[in-house]
Amino acid sequence: MSASSNDWERCVEFHGHACPGLAIGVRACEAAMAHLGLTFAKDEEVVCVTENDACGVDAVQVLTGCSMGKGNLIHKGLGKMAFSFFCRTNKKGVRLVFKKPFAGEGMDRAAMQRHILTAPIEELFEIKEPSYAPPERARLFAGIVCEQCGESCAEHAARLQGGKKVCLDCFADYGRGW
Ligand SMILES: [Zn+2]
Ligand SMILES: [Zn+2]
Repeated sequence: MSASSNDWERCVEFHGHACPGLAIGVRACEAAMAHLGLTFAKDEEVVCVTENDACGVDAVQVLTGCSMGKGNLIHKGLGKMAFSFFCRTNKKGVRLVFKKPFAGEGMDRAAMQRHILTAPIEELFEIKEPSYAPPERARLFAGIVCEQCGESCAEHAARLQGGKKVCLDCFADYGRGW
């Protein structure tokens, strides 16, 4: 099985160019959707936790309907070419980790892209169980008006500073690494 050309074209159109990274995302979505029995998410029934912010994430948004705006695309900045998908309806989850080294190593970009689009899924990804439960559904928060700059921010992003409610722009972080 390989990525349908229609899926690929829609992703290239959204992403702006064709590249091997986008191809990885397309194949990860294809694998996740088959594994979990998913269709395009109209709401938050599907969640993707992406461990990178590279080209492939654009395929996730086009093909699975997990997007920043719906709150069901979560970036966990681990710098790994890995994606976890969760279905809230059937409670299933899958984590896809792109295998390294892989057979496309050393190919030029066009050949590598072709290889990723056509290789068997098991050759491209380790298919694992996510080690954590899906993140909670997106919440709505009350707005807090910052007492320093006057801009409104969501309650979870407000801080107290000198007894005043402030936004993160106005907050001087006192991080001590904990
Ligand atoms: Zn790209
Ligand atoms: Zn402020």
